[in-house]
Amino acid sequence: MSRSTRIERYRNIGIMAHIDAGKTTLTERVLFFTGRIHATGEVHDGTTELDWLPQEKKRGITITSAATTAFWTPTHGRAAGTPHRVNILDTPGHVDFTIEVERSLRVLDGAVAVFDASQGVEPQSEAVWRQADRYGVPRIAFLNKMDKVGADFDMSVTSIEERLGARPVAVQLPLGEGPEFRGLVDLVRMRAVLFEGEEGRYLDDQPVPPEAREQAELYRQRLIEAAADVDAGVLEKFVEGRLDEVTAEDLERALRAGTLSRTLVPVLCGSAFKKKGVQMLLDAIVNYLPAPSDLPSVEGCVPGKEERVSRPASDAGPPAALAFKLMNDKAVGSIVFLRVYSGTLRAGTVLLNPVTGKRERVGRLMFMHANRREEVAEVYAGDICAALGLKGVRTGDTLSDPEAPVVLESLGVMEPVVQLAVEARSPAELTKLEEGLHRLAAEDPSLRVGVDPESGQVLLSGMGELHLEVVVDRLLTEYGVEARVGQPKVAYRDTLRRKVRQEYRHVRQTGGPGQYAHVVLDVGPAPRGAGLVFVDDTRGGSIPKELVPAIQ
Ligand code: GDP
Repeated sequence: MSRSTRIERYRNIGIMAHIDAGKTTLTERVLFFTGRIHATGEVHDGTTELDWLPQEKKRGITITSAATTAFWTPTHGRAAGTPHRVNILDTPGHVDFTIEVERSLRVLDGAVAVFDASQGVEPQSEAVWRQADRYGVPRIAFLNKMDKVGADFDMSVTSIEERLGARPVAVQLPLGEGPEFRGLVDLVRMRAVLFEGEEGRYLDDQPVPPEAREQAELYRQRLIEAAADVDAGVLEKFVEGRLDEVTAEDLERALRAGTLSRTLVPVLCGSAFKKKGVQMLLDAIVNYLPAPSDLPSVEGCVPGKEERVSRPASDAGPPAALAFKLMNDKAVGSIVFLRVYSGTLRAGTVLLNPVTGKRERVGRLMFMHANRREEVAEVYAGDICAALGLKGVRTGDTLSDPEAPVVLESLGVMEPVVQLAVEARSPAELTKLEEGLHRLAAEDPSLRVGVDPESGQVLLSGMGELHLEVVVDRLLTEYGVEARVGQPKVAYRDTLRRKVRQEYRHVRQTGGPGQYAHVVLDVGPAPRGAGLVFVDDTRGGSIPKELVPAIQ
């Protein structure tokens, strides 16, 4: 396969949703139908393959974004018969973890937005949608739970339009809703799919049932109207009233262009739980969402210079990759998830982390499948992979060729909003607490850890109560530290101001806040908990504007 063909057959996608919309179930089904797992675990049994952390099983929610590789060969559409590689990043739905969502959005090329068809757009779907807008992520929508009593296709489509300000375009029509949900009309081809049982079997390419014909005609007309807005060929046929001449190929071409330019959001529906409509969704992912090569080149800057550079999604040229997720694994140690933007990255080579100025040897490279890991010698532009052996890399860092250093645009880190004080129960546990917090903060840029110089308390700042609760949980389950938790003794704002002051001093010492300054802040030793040293990190000169007067 030529290099350009290979990258055109990649889809790096995320599945984003309000909690409980069925994202985990859908991801499971996608992995089931892509042949990577053969027994689907239900979320409530705590057996889903993507959930890695024990507390995820306990809570039944997905917190981390695990990247999984699968393969799909569409039955219909422009890519019919051609195998594609679909890398799926599972994104958390709880609003406390929006930073995790942002992180995955940064490295995705497209997304499936999942909605509960009985609810339509819910508040958290709005938050996630806006984040995806900010990162310019092309999307398709999947109205899940069509089997549920109260499922309402029209209401859900309208809510996408009204509440998200998007232009949803139904490309399917459900045959029946709730317990009556028995099939779909593919409006592009004007053929029906009839489900057979709950094991994902269906009769393809059926005539549209007579009772659904009128409604299907109406929806197809709307589809043609939307397509005419983005495609000159369809527009011509539309204005001349030659609607019968609009072909499936015409509509597919227009839908792809409209999705890529983010003017349209194709809407599909189904029931992840009952394995209905998932294969058609996979076809749509491949047919409508972009390959890495469809998107503009990634931008970055040359460290120490004003110069901005762009790196095309091509295997040739110097490698550049972004670390978007860190995980600790009992068996293999620290795992760094990388999105390779350009070049070829080989196991065993030394790369530069221009953010820290350190060189790092890439030990091993692997693809994570749902049920196994696949070790590979090299990875290419467009790949999402896991790297082992990297020591000083933090979330948001770039790894690049030492001869052609680049710092890729990093991840937006929001200001923490909630703070908690933690204390070790004994001096012996203090070291473990330090180590645990150090690692957790390296994984998660939205977690800040510091010591209040006056009270000596270790303070955790995060995105929400659940976020910090999970941190405390992980201290216990992964590091065996039962931390005592309380409210901070000082006002959060004061602590932040003090911390910023120290960071600022440090930036000054290291020669001014560069656009990608990486600030390591040593706030210890603290009066209590002597020797507690913590590292904080500021990227993009992110000293909050409102605090600038306070630190001058
Ligand atoms: P997440 O929070 O978005 O990951 O949602 P989950 O996949 O954990 O699903 C939330 C709940 O909805 C679980 O109890 C699922 O079994 C249920 N669920 C998921 N998909 C469907 C569906 O298509 N139909 C119905 N009726 N229930 C579903």
